[in-house]
Amino acid sequence: MENDRFPLDLSHGRRHEDCKALLWQIGFMGQGCKVAVLDTGVDLDWLRENGDTARDTTFHPLDFTPASEGPGDSAPGLHGTRVIREILLSAPRAEIFSLKVYGVTHSPSRQDLAAALEWCVQSGIVLVNIGSAIYGGECSVGSPCLLCRSINTHALATGMFTVSVGGDAYTLNETITRGEAPVICPANTVLGWAVEGPSVVGDRRALLERSLATGGGLSVTTAQFSGGAALLRSAVPSLDIFSVRNAIRRTSIPLSLPRSGNLGAGHHCFFLATLCAQAWAAGSFQFKSLKIYENLDAPSGRSQGRADAALCEQLAWIAATFIQRDQWDQAAAAAEEAAAAIAPWAGPLDRSLVEHVWAYCLESLGQIVPAAVHYERSSSHLASHAEAG
Ligand SMILES: [Zn+2]
Repeated sequence: MENDRFPLDLSHGRRHEDCKALLWQIGFMGQGCKVAVLDTGVDLDWLRENGDTARDTTFHPLDFTPASEGPGDSAPGLHGTRVIREILLSAPRAEIFSLKVYGVTHSPSRQDLAAALEWCVQSGIVLVNIGSAIYGGECSVGSPCLLCRSINTHALATGMFTVSVGGDAYTLNETITRGEAPVICPANTVLGWAVEGPSVVGDRRALLERSLATGGGLSVTTAQFSGGAALLRSAVPSLDIFSVRNAIRRTSIPLSLPRSGNLGAGHHCFFLATLCAQAWAAGSFQFKSLKIYENLDAPSGRSQGRADAALCEQLAWIAATFIQRDQWDQAAAAAEEAAAAIAPWAGPLDRSLVEHVWAYCLESLGQIVPAAVHYERSSSHLASHAEAG
């Protein structure tokens, strides 16, 4: 029996980046997902010259500046362009709407951003990336501002999901030493999502410092999250806003308690989130029991992308039965059984899918190399393909 199992590589540092690549290989690259980026515009020539991320998608460069500056990106660091590039590195076939809301001298007000969101909802956008945060009063969870109310209203009415940076790394770094992060907006939305750290594990201050040193700031992290969310929406377009949020949250590796209910805390896996969402969308499963060996004793002859469809369904069942209920130990055991069951016939992609789920479960149980090691490796990978901040 033991010989039937393939060895699990517990030191695989790029696991959390492979989540998205696995989704591509089972057929989801962001196609059909309209993504709006509210930022400094887009430089299409730069995008084409820097990694060819612009190859597989359609762009809509739009100008929302009061002085009609045009949709191009004239910001010194090409902030908006780099954010778009990062989203496309995750979801290469998402349709990109670049809404230039930052001008050379103009920073958008809450009203400006709310007006842009109104345009988005009229245009069928399902995901919005806001690469900035607003500090100070005028907004709290109990008394949300115009912008936060707008994000919540659109989310409820149309399912539009708004992802924003949860503050800037410098400020968070300073305040975390005092134990409290600042009040920021639109992190006060209940139905949007604010991304707070590169990977909010352990010593956040050290992580943020390393993040800055490698040039990957919260804007990049937020864009990576948006790209993952675009894959999720691409895979299961019918999901309502609560299911989108729950699928992401309930498949995150649980960490220390979140600072507030509004900020996502945990290590996200969009592969698991998508599996979970597929299970919910399917409503019921052919796998009603834990007969994994019987279910997977031979290839099903059906495929999802380049993988065996029955295996994908079994993994979705594991995600929706155990992982979303925080039963990581049972999920790990089920994944291990699946690994053994498919060992005689599985192709490389099938094995990768199972290994990903299994290793992720073990990691959530603390049975894997420290997160810091993952971070070192993934940040060097990040630095190799992006210098954005
Ligand atoms: Zn607000």
